[in-house]
Amino acid sequence: MSLSLRWRLTIGIAAALIVTLVAILVTLRLALGGILEADLDDDLSRDAGLVSARVALLGSLDDRERLQEIVDSYSLGGLASAFLVVVRDDEGNVLASTPGVDVEVLALEQAQWEAVREGDHFNRTVTLGEGDKIRLRTSRLRIGTEVAGIVQVAEDAELTSRPLDRLQTLLLVEGIGGVILALIIGYWLARGAVKPLQEVIGVAADIEASDLGRRIGARASPAEVQKLADTFDAMLARLDSAFQQQRNFVLDISHELRTPLTALRGNIDVLLMDDRLDSETRSALERMLGEVSRLIRLTSNLLYLAHAEAGRELDRRPVELDTLCLEVYRQTKDLRSDIRYRLGNEDQVTVVGDRDLLKQMLLNLVDNSLKYTPAGGEVTLSLYRDVGRARLEVRDTGPGIDPDQVPLIFQRFYRGKDRGKGGKGGAGIGLAISDWIVKAHGGEIVVNSELGKGSVFTVVLPLAPQEA
Ligand code: ADP
Repeated sequence: MSLSLRWRLTIGIAAALIVTLVAILVTLRLALGGILEADLDDDLSRDAGLVSARVALLGSLDDRERLQEIVDSYSLGGLASAFLVVVRDDEGNVLASTPGVDVEVLALEQAQWEAVREGDHFNRTVTLGEGDKIRLRTSRLRIGTEVAGIVQVAEDAELTSRPLDRLQTLLLVEGIGGVILALIIGYWLARGAVKPLQEVIGVAADIEASDLGRRIGARASPAEVQKLADTFDAMLARLDSAFQQQRNFVLDISHELRTPLTALRGNIDVLLMDDRLDSETRSALERMLGEVSRLIRLTSNLLYLAHAEAGRELDRRPVELDTLCLEVYRQTKDLRSDIRYRLGNEDQVTVVGDRDLLKQMLLNLVDNSLKYTPAGGEVTLSLYRDVGRARLEVRDTGPGIDPDQVPLIFQRFYRGKDRGKGGKGGAGIGLAISDWIVKAHGGEIVVNSELGKGSVFTVVLPLAPQEA
């Protein structure tokens, strides 16, 4: 699932804040930690200096009692910060130490002792048994110019870590608060930024192929979104004009075709009236008549398609459907001599509508049934008068329609896989036009079909007011 722009912006802002906070925290810890440790080491150096100076005044390390007195005086609050003092001889043996202190943990490794002897002092952090940490300074003890022994002083190392921990907790609490705030503000800002886009999307989604005249127009949007709207409007204008041209072209062409085709049909009709025609010529002429009629229906469909797109008004008058059925039957009865084609039930029904359109609709349905039904099959055209409505039924024993295809056959230019006898399928607009015609009359078309058995196309139309 892809995240919406709004959420991406919000999360981006919050993530940037979290990264910044973590970076600040790490930098603070590193920088402040170093400064505080250096301060602590300075304190320890001063403390060690004081102890060394007092011991040096003794002149030697022999008087253990005096040494312990000095150690006690410093460890019991005599110094500002040190809480632990140890005096050792040159070999590292303890001479005096703060009472109760486990001097073992203060022992240094060999290399560290060496470092003290050769240099001057050595600082390290030691973990005590209970996990407490202390900072320990071990320095050389000089009496006169001689190196006589070692002095160790230590302080609580938490003196450096405690302020850092407090700072960290504070920053974390404020950070979490900050991130929540950033999420809220970020979401609000992002919503504001995305709203104009959504408005444009909303309008664009409303614009359908049938009303390409609509435009998004100027709105109170940021420049980028307005540019998008303008570009979209320009595209719509181009599409609209292309559609208009296409529609006009179809209108012109179907007009141009219909006149000569109708003349052609009239002439063939006249020729067929001649009794002297031999049977071969007659059947050739009849086939021609069928094809010309089909071409006329196709051009009519194209014409009505253009009308439907242009939103043409219907020419509404009372129409006797029974007469219309008879007319359609007569006009189509010679199309197939190899199937049983008949009129079934014929009630007398009048509806209000556009006669030409209703006839075209019925011709399309009948033509399909005649086209798709194989030789030896049956096609029946019936008309029923139900309560408040007229019901036209075109029933055939054709190949039937796959249930998956039923919703598709009313779409424009959709043609089923089975193109009928001898690949006679048309342009795939007959049912789309019929559907438009029936809906424009306030009715509906329903298909009941079973593969291999046949189809029933049922058209339901409201009765004329006086009839109802
Ligand atoms: P076409 O010009 O292809 O006949 P239509 O819009 O009239 O276009 O029909 C669409 C499709 O519906 C056809 O291609 C065909 O597959 C299917 N169809 C329509 N009527 C029938 C029918 N009576 N029997 C079987 N299939 C049909």
